[in-house]
Amino acid sequence: MSEMYIKKFLKLLSKFLVFFSLVAFVITCSTLLFVSSLSKSMNLTLTENELEVAAKLTFGNVVVLSIIFCIIDTVRRKLTVDRSVKNITNASKKIMEGNFNVRIKPQTKLLTSDNFNSIIDCFNKMAEELGSVETLRTDFIANVSHEMKTPLSIMQNYGTLLQTPNLSEEKRIEYAKGVVEGSRRMADMMTNILKLNRLENQQIYPNLLEFDLGEQICECLLHFENVWENNNIKIITEIENDVIVKADFELLSLVWNNLFSNAFKFTESGGEVIITLTANESYAYVKVKDTGCGMTPEVGAHIFEKFYQGDTSHSVQGNGLGLALVKRIIDIMQGEISVESSVGKGSTFTVKIRRM
Ligand code: ADP
Repeated sequence: MSEMYIKKFLKLLSKFLVFFSLVAFVITCSTLLFVSSLSKSMNLTLTENELEVAAKLTFGNVVVLSIIFCIIDTVRRKLTVDRSVKNITNASKKIMEGNFNVRIKPQTKLLTSDNFNSIIDCFNKMAEELGSVETLRTDFIANVSHEMKTPLSIMQNYGTLLQTPNLSEEKRIEYAKGVVEGSRRMADMMTNILKLNRLENQQIYPNLLEFDLGEQICECLLHFENVWENNNIKIITEIENDVIVKADFELLSLVWNNLFSNAFKFTESGGEVIITLTANESYAYVKVKDTGCGMTPEVGAHIFEKFYQGDTSHSVQGNGLGLALVKRIIDIMQGEISVESSVGKGSTFTVKIRRM
């Protein structure tokens, strides 16, 4: 053990030997010059021998003092700098290995400088951020895989049934329709994921056009004519005329299609869907009200999250991405969306968008 310390000491000494010698030489020369000029001004004559002794003493003292200062400084550096650097390096290595739970304890102020503590603070925040991004990523993969399983197993089941020998024409068509429906659901989900991905990565810049918002709403609504007729849902529209907006036509169509499709999906036969459009000089307000199943405040708090489905009884008809898309589009347009709902009574979605 002691041998190891001696080796370390010698290594340290040799590292600084040139430095010590140089400092000692310079200081010795300066001291000798000073002493000789002092002795001249005081009319003292120093023998060569006395000068040599003074030089050796000065040199020795300087070397000893340098070594002492060097040791003190090395210990100080070990405690205040090396320890923090080592902690940060070890934590960074863990992050590189994919462990985002790692955090560095801030050092006591006495043992480190404030700079290190602010680096440690930033590091911890970075690790936290990376951890939450990783959680989002894994949640996303888990959700997509889960959502893909349902249509895949539907297709698999109908595919197996289609292999049954001597199938009647009617059954064959029914099973084939099942396969088509499963693949349609998968395609819808993929389209929504891609759209959301593009919207979230800001690769879509709104393509601003001036158009009549009322006309657009009526056009979108007409796509659902079959749905409201087949389900015996009463449709009421209160659309203000000539509400011209400057917005992205395609993106807004997505908003209305998703809101209308939800309103019809969650409203029982015999219910009502009421669409209103009002406007003032600066903003247009669209309300989509239904008399459907409504939702609890707990469900309402999550509906704009990706893959969230509050009402699982309708899960076959959706994938929980519709409102996430709607919210993202409204955010890009710097608009607002809100929902009022009570269980069993229905829901009202209100969208506020800037007109110009
Ligand atoms: P999806 O409709 O595919 O389930 P959405 O993102 O469109 O996904 O909606 C998320 C959830 O919000 C739905 O599962 C449902 O619980 C709730 N929701 C949306 N619109 C309505 C509505 N009009 N009435 C009741 N609940 C709704």
